[in-house]
Amino acid sequence: MDKLNNLSERELFPKGVKLPNDHFTGRAWLSMLVEDDRIFNCPIGNVSFEPSARTNWHIHQGGQILLVTAGKGYYQEKGKKVQVIHKGDVVKIPSSVNHWHGASPDSWLVHIAIMPNSQKGPVEWLEPVTNEEYNVISG
Ligand code: MN
Repeated sequence: MDKLNNLSERELFPKGVKLPNDHFTGRAWLSMLVEDDRIFNCPIGNVSFEPSARTNWHIHQGGQILLVTAGKGYYQEKGKKVQVIHKGDVVKIPSSVNHWHGASPDSWLVHIAIMPNSQKGPVEWLEPVTNEEYNVISG
């Protein structure tokens, strides 16, 4: 698996700004591609996770679509098995479903995050994905 160490030279979109760790474990970066507005109601961001970095558990009231553009990572809905995701995968996350996404321990993950129906409200951030939850995956 490509570890994408030269991420900045290989990515389509800018890496953007490092996200604060309020809702993330490890280092992740965000580049907004489409700002939210009341015409489209569909902000779009490019998110880059270093190995082992991930979101907290969270909920999008309007759902979310992830387009994986580089690397390898994980997606999990609460109460379900973890799914391994790779470059080229499309993940459709239903509205109101508690979930997380992030990189695997051995690879960066880069995805475009499309957040439709933004008029339904902001992301609802919940507790961090613990190391115990995360480490179950790679066993
Ligand atoms: Mn999400």
